[in-house]
Amino acid sequence: MLQPFDDTYFMKKALQEAEMAFDKGEIPVGAVIVIDNRVIARGHNLTELLTDVTAHAEMQAITAASNFLGGKYLKDCTLYVTLEPCQMCAGALYWSQISKIVYGARDLERGCINLNTKLHPKTVIKGGVLEDEASELLKRFFIQKRNLN
Ligand SMILES: [Zn+2]
Repeated sequence: MLQPFDDTYFMKKALQEAEMAFDKGEIPVGAVIVIDNRVIARGHNLTELLTDVTAHAEMQAITAASNFLGGKYLKDCTLYVTLEPCQMCAGALYWSQISKIVYGARDLERGCINLNTKLHPKTVIKGGVLEDEASELLKRFFIQKRNLN
């Protein structure tokens, strides 16, 4: 059976957010939060523009989703993010009690998995969705940045 609303579908939306970050000269990471197959929040990295180290894609999506739902907990929600969340975002996601996290590329150095950041016991995490697309965008960004300097 054809599944129009699968993980790939929503990860493409997160990649669109990452492209927006790319176009602004930000490290290209994007995120969306979904409930009942509906995107309720979007975010992309804005740490340079906002001169704020906390302005990661996930942080903005969490705030937007809570505003949309009118509640601080993101139970029954899924976060799609193009890069494995860092410790800060994993910490915020812990507090949100989000049901599921789906990420694209692994971040071996700064990602929450290798750093053993605790997620909420109710949170399921899954990786590798459109991994190549997500890491290709990051690579393209850093090559371009190197050439400009
Ligand atoms: Zn983060």
